[in-house]
This record gives sequence, C-alpha cells and structure tokens, in this order.
Amino acid sequence: MRRTPIAAAATWLLGALAALPAAGAAFDFERTPGRLPKNVVPLDYRVSVTPDLGARTIAGTESVRLRITAATASIVFNSLNEKLADVRLDGAPVSAVVSDDARQLTVVTLAQPAPPGEHTLSFAYTALLETQPHGMFLQQYVKPDGTRGVLVSTKMESTDARRMFPCWDEPAFRSTFELTVTGPASWATVSNMPVAARVVHGELATVTFQRSPAMPSYLIEFTGGDLAALSAQTAGTGLGLWAVRGRELEGQVALADAQLILADYNDYFGLPFPLPKLDAIAVPGGFSGAMENWGAITYNDKLLLLNPDSTIADRQVVFAVQAHEIAHQWNGDLVTMGWWDDLWLNESFASWRAANETDLRNPSWKWWQRQDGAKERAMRADARLSTHAIQQPVADELQAANAFDEITYEKGQSVLRMLESYLGPELFRDGIRRYLRARAYSNATADDLWLALAQASGRDDVVQVARDWTEQPGFPLVTVAAECSGGVRTLIFSQHRFLVQGSDPTGASWHIPLRLRVGAAVPRAELLAHDGQKSGAGRCDEPLSVNAEAIGFFRVKYDAATLATDTRAFATLPDGDRIALLDDAWALSLAGEQPLGSYLALAAAMGSNHNSRAWDQIAGALGALERDERGSRGHEAFTARARALLKPMADSLGWDPRPGETPDVRRLRRTLRFDLGEWDDPKTLAEARRRFARFVSDRGAISPDDQESVLTVVAHAADPATFEQLHAIARGEKDEAAQRRYYSALMQVSDATLAQRAAEAALSAEIPPQAADLRLHLVVALADRHPALAWRVFTANADLLLAPYPKYAPLITSQEIPEVFWEAAEPQQLEAWVRARLPAEMSPNIARGTEAAAVRRAERQELASAIDAWVARASASPPLHAP
Ligand SMILES: [Zn+2]
Repeated sequence: MRRTPIAAAATWLLGALAALPAAGAAFDFERTPGRLPKNVVPLDYRVSVTPDLGARTIAGTESVRLRITAATASIVFNSLNEKLADVRLDGAPVSAVVSDDARQLTVVTLAQPAPPGEHTLSFAYTALLETQPHGMFLQQYVKPDGTRGVLVSTKMESTDARRMFPCWDEPAFRSTFELTVTGPASWATVSNMPVAARVVHGELATVTFQRSPAMPSYLIEFTGGDLAALSAQTAGTGLGLWAVRGRELEGQVALADAQLILADYNDYFGLPFPLPKLDAIAVPGGFSGAMENWGAITYNDKLLLLNPDSTIADRQVVFAVQAHEIAHQWNGDLVTMGWWDDLWLNESFASWRAANETDLRNPSWKWWQRQDGAKERAMRADARLSTHAIQQPVADELQAANAFDEITYEKGQSVLRMLESYLGPELFRDGIRRYLRARAYSNATADDLWLALAQASGRDDVVQVARDWTEQPGFPLVTVAAECSGGVRTLIFSQHRFLVQGSDPTGASWHIPLRLRVGAAVPRAELLAHDGQKSGAGRCDEPLSVNAEAIGFFRVKYDAATLATDTRAFATLPDGDRIALLDDAWALSLAGEQPLGSYLALAAAMGSNHNSRAWDQIAGALGALERDERGSRGHEAFTARARALLKPMADSLGWDPRPGETPDVRRLRRTLRFDLGEWDDPKTLAEARRRFARFVSDRGAISPDDQESVLTVVAHAADPATFEQLHAIARGEKDEAAQRRYYSALMQVSDATLAQRAAEAALSAEIPPQAADLRLHLVVALADRHPALAWRVFTANADLLLAPYPKYAPLITSQEIPEVFWEAAEPQQLEAWVRARLPAEMSPNIARGTEAAAVRRAERQELASAIDAWVARASASPPLHAP
C-alpha cells in the first residue's frame, strides 16, 4: 500500500507512537496493487520453449498448477505478442481465449465455472524471439577472433517475462518454475537452477533445469550460446562465471570478488545464500546494466570482464555492480517488493549494501566519498518541484519501467545510509536480519522493513523518520544560527524544503537525523524534530558541521560567522565535512540562497589538500561555470582564474603516477589534467600532444587509466590530421573497453567540421553490435561543445540511438534528454518534441525534464553577473592559491 505525501504529513502530526504501522500496512497479498485478479494464483509452472533463431520465434508449451480461491468463470493473466492454442483446464478444452496485446492480457473463458481448489491450466503457444533486450532475445556480437556470433539471453524486469511465456507477471504472484529449453546441442546453457536433465537428439539438445523455489516471474533467466565458464565454491555454493568462449579468463577478478562478497553477505544477512549455485553471465551487449535474476545474474560483459586494457574505474565497477546484484539475491529475490511502488526497497537497498561492501573491502577507493557525486545528482533532481517521493504510485507497465531513476537508486541509498547512521550499524543490521527472516520466500512493503528496524532497535521513532524521507518528495534545508555567550555556542535550527526554484506549496517538514561535529570531536547524533530546536555546540571559534561525513540527505546553511570559521579551518576539516560544505555552498549559490563568492572562497581554501572528491566537486563546479561563460566576454578571464585555482595542485602531482599512491590521488591527477586541458592551459595541451604522438605508434605509451584524460585533451584541441589519427586508432581497436574510450574522446573536438565527422563515426557501423548502447552516450557527449549539431543528430536518429534501451527509452526521453539539450532548442520546441514521442500519461516525467531544462537556462542567466563580479574582484586581489 502506498501513502500520498499529504497522508504522510497528517500522520506526522499524530506523533511517533501513533505513526507505527497499522496492521494492514505490512505486505498483504489480497491488498497488493496490481492489474490481475487475485482469485487465481499460480503455484507451479512447467514451461518448455524452443527458440527458432532464423525465424525469430519461440514455440512453447506450458502447464500451470493453480489455486483458485473463489469460484470463477474466467482466468486472466499476462501475455504479449503470443498466440495460445489447445488451452485446457484440468484437461478439458476451454470455451474462449482472447489475447489483447494493447492491455498485455489473455482472458480464458472456461467451459463451466471452476470451483475453489487446485487446477491445472495447459496450452501450447508461440512467442517472438526478440532482437532488443527484453523477454527472450537474440544477441549478435563480434567474437574475440573477429567473426560474428549469436547467443540467446533474457531480460524480464519489470514486465517482460510475459514476452517469453504467458504468466502472472506481477511480483506478488510468487511461484515455482521448471524451465525446459531446446536449442543447438553445441550450446552451453544457464538458468536460475542447475541442469536436471539434458537429452541430445541430433543437432539439438533439450535441457531441463531443476524446479526453482517460489519466486516472481521477473527473475526468470536463461542464456544459451557458445559459452565457457570458470567455477569456484563459497560456503557450499557453486559459483560460476560465464562468458563467450575465449573470454572466460577475463572473469577471474570478478569471480574472486563474487566469492568475497557472497561470504560477507552470508554473514551480514544471517541467512546463507538460499540456492544451490550462483552464476554470473557476461552477455556481450544486450542491455547496458546488470540484472539480479535469482541464481543467474546477467551482466553487460563490460561490467564483469577485465583485461590488461581495463582501467581502475572498470575494476571498481566490476566489484560495485556485483556487490549490488548479489545483495539483490536476498533483498529483491528472497524477499521481493509486493508491487512496483516499492521498487526502491529492492534498488535502494542493493545500492546501499553494495556501497558499504565496496567501501569495506576496498578502503583505498574511498567509495562512500565517490558515492557523494551520485548523491549530489539525486539532490539536484530532488531540489526541483517536479520531483517525486521515493515511494511512488505505479499503475501500469509504463510507470513500473519509469520508476528506475536517481530518486529510486541514489536518494534511496542515501536515506538508508542516513537511517543506518541514526540507529547505528549493529542495530540496523539486526533489523535487516529480522526483516529478511520474517519475509523470506515472500513479499514485503516498506512498512515491513520499518517495523523490523523498530523492533530490533526498540526505537519507534525510526518509523516516522523513515516515512518522512520515503513518502514525501524533496528534502530540507537546515538553517543553523549560532548564538554566542561568553564564547560558548548555542545553535538554533529551523528547516524548510530546499528548492532550486519556486516555493514549496505543501509546507513539508522532516524529522532530520543531524550529526553534529564540533572541532575535531567524534560526531554526535541529534534528531531535529521542530523549528527553533536548540543545541549546545562547543566554543564559537571551533569549526562546526551538522552533517558530519556528508551522510545526511539535506542541505545546511550556516550563519555568516560560523561559515567564516569553517572557511578558515577548511583545509584541516575531516574529508566528509569538507565535502558537505562544498556541496552545500555550491547548491546554495545555484539556488540564490548564498553568494557564489562564499563557495569560491571555500574552493580557494583547499590549499594542498589531496582529497579527490573535494577537488572533483570543485572541478565540476568550475566546469559548469566555464560552460555558462562560453561565448561571453568574461570567458577568457574566468578560465584564467579557474586554471590558477587548479594549477598548483596539478603541478605538484605531475603527470606520472608515483609508487604507493592511492587510486584516489591518481584519479585526482587525471581530473585536474582533464580540466586544465579543457580550459586551454598551453602547457597541459603541449604535454598531452607529446604523449599522444608516442601513443600513435605505441599503444603502451599511455596507460589505460590515463587514456581518457589525455586523449580527451588532445581531441579537444585537435586539427584534422590529429582527429584522423585518433579516429584511425578507434577504428582499428579490437578491445571494446578501449574502443569506448577512443570514440568518447573523439566527441570532445572543438572544431565544428570535425564535430560533424565525430557524429558520423558515432552513427556508423564502426561501432560493433554489442556496443550499440554507446551511440547515445556519444551523441550526448557531443552536446557539450556542439549542442545544436548534437540535437539535430539526436532527433534525426532517435530510434536508432534509443533502440538498445527498450525499457528505459521513455524515461530517458522525458527526464534526461531535455536536461542534455536545454540550450540546443527553444523550451517549447524541446517539450513539443518530447511530448510527440510519448503517451500522455508521462506528463509528470515530462514535467521533470522540462523543469530541469528551465533550471539550467535560469542558472546560466543568474550566474553570469556573479561570475563577472568574482573575476573582477579576484583580478584585483592576490592569486587565489596563496600558500
Ligand atoms: Zn538493482
């Protein structure tokens, strides 16, 4: 069940105790939303399919054991592009079968009403073997030896299992499945469960997999093709890593990661991994992410395979994405959200757990600091009026697909982290264990989780805090006013919803878990429950953070004196506190809540501090300002000041990694080089060109990690000959990860004629079929310097560019495209183009994209004069990087 924000505000008034979940708020099958009637419940499926690769069809037979709870004359379930034949209930022919592809339903009218009890529905059917990654699909790819191959795989979430076989395709209808597939005998085959039987007949083999535990249909998996595997064991669970033959050894690192992660999760969740085996399957291309099918996780191969051409960023992704998908094996698979309105229960949870695991096992990556960038992107979206609550109503298939956005993932992850910090990690873990034990092999709602956390911690207030943050859109700005008496400080807090533009019509408020740090002390927790709340906070001259370690999903505005104290102490603050100050000061200046100068004073106070996330934040903000200044008279003067801010740190780091450096410092070096090159620093351009000249004849001359920054700088300043050299390198490259880097660099050209050629390359058949998803990224990258060209290319080729994203295309079109092309087209033209491609029900999503574009336009206008003023003041004063 889902509560509206207005209802949430009403329960808040009743206080913490009254807000404990009512009995009906926990998962209840009968009351779970959905489109299918609840009186016919599938218990067990036997599905047998034979894909025809040439005809792109599937021939299937299916037998479903059902429990009918109330006598019925009809049976309704999901289907799409399927034709059913010989439909029988308990062996007797039915009287009518109508499949409606528009509603994605089949209605079977029975010869006579079926009484309550168990029955068996059986039929034969045909379906489509898809060529885009939804349902069961055919994937073409280029093999390591350059020849072409095909394989068959599946991708069901949210609502595409119905494309492979007719089914009750809603997550509350958990059922057991026994899958049989007939395909080429040369194929290796993988599904959720181990192979139970394999019979070869001529050139074909029929493989039956063991019956699965009860699970939702969206977790069904099958992959078949010329695959090879590595294997390992962890605590009695067989781990497999599958890739197209010849590439399986590239999965060694991923397999070792999976062993570690599985062992950690067995321990953390307090329930051992419940299936006999867990496979990871590297699909060449297909969809661009990964899917947590129970026992058989599919990954786009670039998220799983590593070779000597891979970068540290690739390596990090392999760990982090596996940590996310393996977390789903418990939360998502063992316990599944009741309905798609609680999708965040799956996604936020997996993201939060994965970030903790990645951070724990790779401390030098400073993973939570890296996650701050993702949190900021979510806060940017959530600071607009058109945002939505983490929990949002989902009525149909389209809305289910559209729920996969930064609010569901990144905001949800941050809110869980904030709750974990509020309760403490042990109590939070105990609550998670209690929740999983209580709901195993079944479904859950958010309230099931809140109740378990409250029971484990003995703290009822966690329910109210959690609801405030998941049921209301947006987040608060905490205003901190310090009163000094005899040098002793008292803080007075107030809050209102933070919006980058406009004002909040609902007067929303939140219970806010603050973490106060005074000076260098250990932070203390304090719950901000009402305006005017006071708190003692040490001496007035000590630095202060009320969002220590940047864990909270809120903004903080300090009074001028406190901000000045923090700015003076800026270089000595703990990393997380420094990051929070930068994030907030930047967001407050964009929203017109604080002068840009306050932010730039913090940036200038970084000194010789090496924290890469802080510098990332600064480089990103300066980059945004530089972009807004392009074409204006002040651009030259601004970039000179921006370069002066980064250059001392860049010079101290040099160009080449030093022994013993952490990945964080190496990343910082690349970030600074990249920006200095983008801002036309002559020495950076010259050195990048020198390195590129060596790279042309010797690919080992620039390490994979450094290629992105060096090649981007080279491409940015490229003449036609240099462009052709880089293009030839991209064309001649066999490794997909390297290809992606080279083509991405090509899109950074400044010259308009070369940009046209870059666009042609992005659309060309040079991009191999398994990297088809890259094209959209390339055109989006081109928009940075050539917005009008990129918009023309995008609109003329939108079908081709969006084809690899069949499920997410509406979400991308509505919410992301306007933010990319905000300056390429007039607002009305942009919105009209988006509306013409989408159904009317997507108006809320379109409003998000439209507002994002409007915010960018307004920001550019408002910042222009602030930037010029800063440049004028800065030019009249000593250099910013005073030691
Ligand atoms: Zn996920």
